[in-house]
Amino acid sequence: MNLFETVDQLGHEQVVFFHDRESGLRCIVAIHSTLLGPALGGLRMWPYVNEADALRDVLRHSKEMTYKAAIAGLDLGGAKAVLIGNPESDKSEALFRALGRFIHSLGGRYIASEDVGTSVADMELIRLETPHVVGVPEADGGSGDPARFTALGTLHGIKACLEFKHGHSDLKRVSFAVQGAGQVGYHLVKLLRAAGSKVFVTDLAEDRVEHLVDEFGAEAVPMSKIYDVEATVFSPCALSAVINEDTLPRLRCEIVAGGANHQLESEELGTELERRGILYAPDYAINAGGLISSALELHGFSEARAERRVARVHEIITRILTLAAAEKIPAWQAAQRLAEQRLRAISRTKLPYMRAAT
Ligand code: NAD
Repeated sequence: MNLFETVDQLGHEQVVFFHDRESGLRCIVAIHSTLLGPALGGLRMWPYVNEADALRDVLRHSKEMTYKAAIAGLDLGGAKAVLIGNPESDKSEALFRALGRFIHSLGGRYIASEDVGTSVADMELIRLETPHVVGVPEADGGSGDPARFTALGTLHGIKACLEFKHGHSDLKRVSFAVQGAGQVGYHLVKLLRAAGSKVFVTDLAEDRVEHLVDEFGAEAVPMSKIYDVEATVFSPCALSAVINEDTLPRLRCEIVAGGANHQLESEELGTELERRGILYAPDYAINAGGLISSALELHGFSEARAERRVARVHEIITRILTLAAAEKIPAWQAAQRLAEQRLRAISRTKLPYMRAAT
């Protein structure tokens, strides 16, 4: 990969490589944009096969965080960090404290949060070295695990989709095929079952599915069959690129709306979904609940405040779908347009005093 050319195309402000021999730290932080404020983004720990994969991942995800914060109406920029290593075997106090010091050296331009492979406990270690981290335990004034708010926001977004397509959001009258029974999937299934929906669920880990079957009365589906389920809503809550050339023709749903990141293998597939009459809720907009709740930690988190703010996902999805219908464009494009409009408008407004504050 030609780094400068890629960064130029994607529009990144800064890409930083952290290395510490003693603790084995190898971390890349990609700050895509600070136009709206400090760049908040997940710290992912993953045993990447090679460094190019790690770099590709961090560059792509950081750009998406800029759009997520912008569409969610937050005064935050977009960033992501990847920590190269195995989360099962390579974690240590020294590793996260070394990383905390490096993050501190960025002076608040990057704020770390939990992501795939990292936990609330890891954020606590980073907090020992820098205040520029969110997602520490609630008992310590933090917002804790964001997954429950990601699921709650997704539920609000699903209701907006139902209202838009069917004129009602009575969850008792609709069914769901949920892919993934991890942190987000678990909370979403719990909420859907509490609202009286019929829920089919699948996961690589059978025990997680069993748990949802036993605890909430969901119905288990084999992993390979989840795309074929005849349900009102297909809700991806596990992997990236699950809407692809192979899976799209199999979908029997009316709406695709879930918590996973990068659901579409390509944007064209989002257009194709809509051509087939399937409404698609742009992933970074509908799954912004976790980011919204984490951001509150910077100003004073409370459960009630978070619930109120996360409910705005309903309005965000409605705005996207309304613009898409008015302009006759796919929803993914409408979301992009709204995010870019806000980035342009607010960054211009704030320019004089943002510069002074950094
Ligand atoms: P998680 O690791 O807790 O759960 C993911 C689940 O997917 C696991 O249970 C795993 O076994 C399962 N899985 C893996 N491969 C699968 C397959 N082929 N078929 C079915 N299930 C499979 O992760 P999470 O925090 O629940 O996040 C889920 C998705 O939501 C990810 O794409 C993540 O990036 C996105 N997301 C999460 C948050 C959050 O707050 N946690 C916020 C925004 C977006």
